[in-house]
Amino acid sequence: MTEPLIYETLLILWLAISAVTFCALLLISAPYGRHSRRGFGPTMGATGGWIVMEIPAVIAFVIIYAMGDYAAHAAPLVLLAMWQTHYIHRTFIFPFRRKGGADMPVSIVSMGVFFNLVNAYLNARAISHLSPQLSPDWFTELPFVVGVVLFFGGMAINITSDNILFSLRKPGEKNYKIPKGGFYRWVSCPNYMGELIEWFGWALATWSLGGLAFAIWTAANLVPRAIAHDRWYREKFPDYPHQRRAIVPFVL
Ligand code: NDP
Repeated sequence: MTEPLIYETLLILWLAISAVTFCALLLISAPYGRHSRRGFGPTMGATGGWIVMEIPAVIAFVIIYAMGDYAAHAAPLVLLAMWQTHYIHRTFIFPFRRKGGADMPVSIVSMGVFFNLVNAYLNARAISHLSPQLSPDWFTELPFVVGVVLFFGGMAINITSDNILFSLRKPGEKNYKIPKGGFYRWVSCPNYMGELIEWFGWALATWSLGGLAFAIWTAANLVPRAIAHDRWYREKFPDYPHQRRAIVPFVL
């Protein structure tokens, strides 16, 4: 079996699992953060959990990337820098900025590690080995330009929205408040909306099926969770702004 065939087979399987995950998450919210509950085995601190869960996306990605034939080419290097900008923040900065909150089941952390290993292979291999179209000409192509704008625009929305959430708790607090300002005017989870925009931007900028699969997975994870967060806010706060949608302004 050649590598492209293995890659395509894994991709199809991966997309099928994302569809099952989407349906499952509509019924059962992943048990961390406000949806934490007993019955999912041993737990660990959320700060350590985030670091362990996300670190393969930094390290495995760079190792797999470096093994590619095009690893030293300019366009793949720019894409590598984009990926690492996101994941170094998510792994080493975000976990220390979040405040309070429940522990995380080790089972969720393990699933996150597995997800990040497969995702690192599908994306790193795409950009440094399987996508020879990523020559320096790619920098002036429309999908790259639009993809980069969406990627960094989405990242800005994600980080500024997470910052609003972090500002709600005083040190030591664990309770939830109604977030206000920024994109919270329109949706309950603008951090998830930003993350979605970011990975659809990545799919465009890399013009790869691995990138598209990651964007679809992000939607499979975050759309059901945004719907669950939105429902949770409405049950918890009778004065919750009624016009706010879950994740897509005016639509969903
Ligand atoms: P949440 O929005 O649920 O929580 C983010 C942080 O803010 C947590 O520390 C949370 O505390 C706190 N928080 C949330 N709402 C409130 C509130 N109303 N009042 C006070 N504090 C609040 O995001 P997640 O934890 O699910 O995700 C964190 C980041 O990871 C996000 O940027 C998300 O986009 C990204 N992510 C990406 C995924 C992907 O598939 N690419 C999958 C999952 C997450 P607590 O922990 O106590 O709830």
